[in-house]
Amino acid sequence: MDKIEHIGIAVKNMEESNRLFSKLLGKEPYKIEEVASEGVRTSFFDVGGVKIELLEATNADSPIAKFIEKKGEGVHHLAFAVDDINKSIAAKVEEGFRVINDNPKSGADNKIIAFLHPKSTNGVLVELCQEKKD
Ligand code: ZN
Repeated sequence: MDKIEHIGIAVKNMEESNRLFSKLLGKEPYKIEEVASEGVRTSFFDVGGVKIELLEATNADSPIAKFIEKKGEGVHHLAFAVDDINKSIAAKVEEGFRVINDNPKSGADNKIIAFLHPKSTNGVLVELCQEKKD
């Protein structure tokens, strides 16, 4: 694993949270992007190269809606940058971690992503993310 690429935070209301985090961080989000396949709207703040990703559910079945229902708003996942996501997934399986996405999927902010199950990582949802190369 390389650096922490971003920290995902589940929020109920993107507009309100963008205002709050703009005030907290002293900057505006550099990108707002909907990932329809995941049922989320995201916004990104760059904090010295590590990003804060706010996640708002766009429908009731969204994993973010379910997370907020269970745990309330707050830190949702940690994302680590990797060079080769398929290699990383294979390595994590080999090491005994439970991988949710054996096949990586398209994420926000030009990334290919896969999650590790929090049951195998001390309750922390871990995202592996690789920059899309094309
Ligand atoms: Zn993420």
